[in-house]
Amino acid sequence: MIKELVTDEELLATPCEPATAEDAELAQDLLDTLESIEDAACLAANQIGVAKAVIVYKNEKDRAHVMFNPAMKRALRPYRTEEGCLTHEGTKKVTRYDQATFTYQELVDGVLVPRKKDCRGWTAQILQHMIDHCKGKLI
Ligand SMILES: [Zn+2]
Repeated sequence: MIKELVTDEELLATPCEPATAEDAELAQDLLDTLESIEDAACLAANQIGVAKAVIVYKNEKDRAHVMFNPAMKRALRPYRTEEGCLTHEGTKKVTRYDQATFTYQELVDGVLVPRKKDCRGWTAQILQHMIDHCKGKLI
């Protein structure tokens, strides 16, 4: 279901709780909401008002993916860049890593399965932005 975006700073600044297999519907809401927003690349659950660590993002091929409990494990080649945010006014300078390893869980047949992914460039950057959202960190 398509949800309204949340811009309430207090809610967005609250660290998210770990997501569980019960959050399948939340993941679907995130996918539906992401698809409904033109040019949106990624969305975290607290941006639709649920403080759980679930995110969705589109890769370079415009395919949407879901991650439960994403975390960055290894990061290389830091750089400074300027980012905007769907639920926050203006842009801000941040440090991102051009190359990083992410761990997360994927929901497969009702069970969360651990996964690992190496990403670089754009995908690595939006995942770092999403993980910040899960921590309640705003750009
Ligand atoms: Zn954001």
